[in-house]
Amino acid sequence: MTLTQDVTIKTQENQRVFNFSSGPAVLPLEVLEQVKEDLISYPGAGMSVMEMSHRSAAFENIIRTTETDLRKLLNIPANYKVLFLQGGASLQFAMVPMNLLPATGDADYILTGSWSQKALAEAIKFGKVRVAGSTESENFARIPTQSELTLNPDAAYVHFTSNNTIYGTEWHNEPEVGDVPLICDTSSDILSRPLEVSKYGLIYGGAQKNAGIAGATIAIIREDLLERSPKNLATMLDYHLQAKNESLYNTPPTFSIYLSGLVVKWLLSIGGLTEIQQRNQQKANQLYAAIDASQGYYKGHAHADSRSLMNVTYRLPSEELEKKFVKEATAIGLDGLGGHRSVGGIRASLYNAFPYAGVEALVAFMQDFQAKNG
Ligand SMILES: *Cc1c(COP(=O)(O)O)cnc(C)c1O
Repeated sequence: MTLTQDVTIKTQENQRVFNFSSGPAVLPLEVLEQVKEDLISYPGAGMSVMEMSHRSAAFENIIRTTETDLRKLLNIPANYKVLFLQGGASLQFAMVPMNLLPATGDADYILTGSWSQKALAEAIKFGKVRVAGSTESENFARIPTQSELTLNPDAAYVHFTSNNTIYGTEWHNEPEVGDVPLICDTSSDILSRPLEVSKYGLIYGGAQKNAGIAGATIAIIREDLLERSPKNLATMLDYHLQAKNESLYNTPPTFSIYLSGLVVKWLLSIGGLTEIQQRNQQKANQLYAAIDASQGYYKGHAHADSRSLMNVTYRLPSEELEKKFVKEATAIGLDGLGGHRSVGGIRASLYNAFPYAGVEALVAFMQDFQAKNG
């Protein structure tokens, strides 16, 4: 693909660029089209989803259908509750220890990047925690192996981050934790691949990367863990109460839940999580292959066995070239490629809705850029 063709792509589909943003991030075009169709008057309701009561039959139907479809997509067992919360994954960093870390217990945290560090920093405010593994000394370039973990068999829970959005690493198998409840921040790879929910005590993630827009935070929690919530907890921060009220204790982020519902429907319509995993694998493979074929011009941050399918991070020979790369890429419609300051370089986020054509366009640009600046 030549660069002029890329520019042509930029002007297609209503002038949409290829959006490599790490979050909020690209949505499926079909979902946006549906939003447009429903925006002024949601079918049967005579008003927008933004205007309807969260107690109305129409919204009741939206939230329950979203839950039912999500249960189908992720194959969520009956003994798990699905919650739609607010405050992002960042509030979950606090809600997890507030609800699930008893005064007499301690919790294990595995550190694989900035987000797991933030989760740990928050948990320290509420109880006793241990670091059960960390790759910080290697600038989080890989996921620790099972044998490197020092897990406490009596821990209240083990917390880990399945995909490290900033560093571009991802767990390809869950850590083995025996009977200790496993808790996972899945903010940046939720719904990107099949997941065995029964291995987890709690899965949570903000919707804005792979499952919708900012506003809703999805939490999937095993019912027995709801019994741990202390009685004196603030109502809004109490999993048990949120579950009892079916996420409708107060006004939930209605439009954001509706959006997640559309994203889940889209995933079901294309063949579910096995199909999206294949697509994600194909996109990531293509980009990693281009990095590996560049003879060291592009250097991946993540070790090969820890590479993320969602966020591909890499460096160029100098910061000056990296700036030039981002600037020129942006000019032809390859948007949002600047890396996070803690890794530097380039970060290409290839979430579910990111199209394969965008990866092809990026690879063509990378080859052209290297030829001109190598
Ligand atoms: C983006 C992100 C967060 C922060 O999410 P908020 O919804 O902004 O609080 C936490 N964890 C991971 C892995 C993320 O990618």
